[in-house]
Amino acid sequence: MLVPDPIRAKNFETLAVISNNNDINTLRKKIDSFGVEVIFPKELENDVNSIICCYAILNLLPRFITTVRYTGPTSILKDFPPSHISKINLGEGVWNSSVTIVFGKNTKPNSQNVLYIGSAGWSSYISTKKPCEWNPLPVNSLSALYTAGLVVGEVFKRLLPEIPSEKISHFEYDLITHGTEKQPVVEHPVPETIHFEDLTLVGCGAVGQALVFALKGITRFWGSVSFVDADKLEPSNEQRYIGAFEENRGVQKTEIISQWFAQFNPGIATFRAPMKYEEYAKLSKPLGEEVISAVDNEKTRINIQAGLPKVQWNVWTDTSQNTLRYGAGYHTIGGPYQCAACGYFPTMGTPSQMEMNAIRTGFTKEDIEKRLASNDTVTEQDTLQVAKNTGAPIANLKEIVGRPFEELLHGDCGVFRLEFHEAPAVAPAPHASFLAGVFLAVQIVLRKMKLPSSAKLMESIADFDALGIPNVNCLMKKQKHPKCFCNDPVYQDSYNKKWNITK
Ligand SMILES: [Zn+2]
Repeated sequence: MLVPDPIRAKNFETLAVISNNNDINTLRKKIDSFGVEVIFPKELENDVNSIICCYAILNLLPRFITTVRYTGPTSILKDFPPSHISKINLGEGVWNSSVTIVFGKNTKPNSQNVLYIGSAGWSSYISTKKPCEWNPLPVNSLSALYTAGLVVGEVFKRLLPEIPSEKISHFEYDLITHGTEKQPVVEHPVPETIHFEDLTLVGCGAVGQALVFALKGITRFWGSVSFVDADKLEPSNEQRYIGAFEENRGVQKTEIISQWFAQFNPGIATFRAPMKYEEYAKLSKPLGEEVISAVDNEKTRINIQAGLPKVQWNVWTDTSQNTLRYGAGYHTIGGPYQCAACGYFPTMGTPSQMEMNAIRTGFTKEDIEKRLASNDTVTEQDTLQVAKNTGAPIANLKEIVGRPFEELLHGDCGVFRLEFHEAPAVAPAPHASFLAGVFLAVQIVLRKMKLPSSAKLMESIADFDALGIPNVNCLMKKQKHPKCFCNDPVYQDSYNKKWNITK
């Protein structure tokens, strides 16, 4: 089945960048002659982990591979719209498979290149040598989806062998200890309910969709969640978004994601903000406890951090020549490790905190220093100037007249106007953004659980090579950037006051 060219065009551009092969025609021929077979035996028809894993694999593979054959119960395909089902070969004709993906322990395919897979509890199993013998219980869709992302990554590595990569031959890994315990890790179930006091997801693209897709069915959530994104789904998204199909083109991205969440979690209040974060920040109440930035630009990530959420979860992908990475971060202003803005300073020529204040407010550095030193208060004239400089609605700024001048400098007043050079984000391969979203979903859930002493949480940054194999060293502790505004007492005090943190 030929996929319409405009959608695939972006794939070829991506692959050309990653593999440093600008010959699009050769790439195209290569992809068209690469076939993947997925075999799902009847005996697993009631195995929820395998069903979820298989669904995700069949969802993602046809987004960059043109010939995907599936042998197994068609009930797994029931949630796909017709356009997607038409991209999957259901076992007709002669078949020459480049990679065969096999679920269960009893199928021995007649193929050279086999990936045996499975998952149980918090663990993933992928092997080129022998089938997975694990008991598929307990059900945990997070590890099932993580396994799916890794397997799609293995297919990607085999499709483009010219890119340096590390292929899996035998891999048993869990998301709690990161492979340091005996596998599978089946204890520590997901709690029966999880409460989000006030969670905001900014960015409902490929990574945001993967994140919500991973979270939506795992437990009963309650509390409040908001989704912020200005964009609608467009054809080019179909090359990597798990929820983008021909049938829902033009639908708001916030709409798709909030429907998924609401459908599985009637006990949670969901809010949609179909607008840019900077607009949302001007219009809405101060940022809530937890904010996830799944956006594709540095400016918004820094603006979110400047808005002083209690916790900022950061999640990203990075594509360039011979590079395909994804990662996540857990950030606070007061903690010992990097805030979400620290990590972006090296590429921005390290403006000092005072320089950022000057950019933000339109005052000169000297003026700001003088007024801070004399414990000055905010005047109406000041708010007029800031409104003129930033375009922020004057009504939002009225509240701070008469308050200490330093309050004009932190992000809570809705003054955001940082302009930095941004390289255009290159679209990643589907497994990278998918793994990024699922990994962050896992971390958010683990933070709500009581964990054993062997658990290794992401306390600062996690950085993965999507062409490598995940391991415990991907979790890192990064120190603050010495010039970042998170070192500044003005921000630290505002943060501590906002969240009632006493030192
Ligand atoms: Zn910082």
